[in-house]
Amino acid sequence: MAEALYLKDCYLKEFEATVSKVSNGKFIVLDKTAFYPKSGGQPHDTGKMMRESDGKEFKVVFCGKFSGEISHEVDQEGLQAGDKVKCTIDWDRRYLFMRYHTASHVLAAIIEQETGALITGNQIGEEKTRIDFSLEEMDRDKMMGTEAKVNAIADKGLPVKFSFLSREEAEKNPKITKLAMGLPPAVKVIRVVEIEGFDINACGGTHLANTKEIGHIKIVELVNKGKNNRRIYFTLQIVN
Ligand SMILES: [Zn+2]
Repeated sequence: MAEALYLKDCYLKEFEATVSKVSNGKFIVLDKTAFYPKSGGQPHDTGKMMRESDGKEFKVVFCGKFSGEISHEVDQEGLQAGDKVKCTIDWDRRYLFMRYHTASHVLAAIIEQETGALITGNQIGEEKTRIDFSLEEMDRDKMMGTEAKVNAIADKGLPVKFSFLSREEAEKNPKITKLAMGLPPAVKVIRVVEIEGFDINACGGTHLANTKEIGHIKIVELVNKGKNNRRIYFTLQIVN
């Protein structure tokens, strides 16, 4: 299986790879990739692949995981197995998703701490990001108050770190056991994302190196989605 370079280095914007498989002309599997495949509430990366032999460019319009493999959809046919390609990720789009993703971990942790809610889902977008949670009574003032708490964590500039644990190791560490339990049995190595001294989570997404890069968040909408289902939307702001 192709090596997922984004798991170790979220700031890798350019890399060289070899095409290992082409399906239906436009679906490309590489020997390694830094393109993030749509998963876990984070949208796919876009970008381009340039064939080294003739300089021909192929736009990457979609990236997904199919049968455990990361597949890149390009805009035209022509790539062949064995081709060497120079790949570039659309960095503005990806970096925005990194800011949103790390911010959503901070907000989710604060919602849990403040209200005891159970986080049930999240969807990162280009315009805004939402977090879904289960909570009987939603106190709107308290929920709006989470914004300042997230921004305080952002201002603190906490480092964000990754570690990789086998399922057995994870089950021995009481701090992480809870995270490991929810993962499908097929997941043998668990990637742990730690916002130093604040939050620890199992997550395969792309993250900032430091919470300072979030800037600030702004809560834009709170929605009641029936019985216990609540939804919160936020946007990002740059701070100088
Ligand atoms: Zn995550």
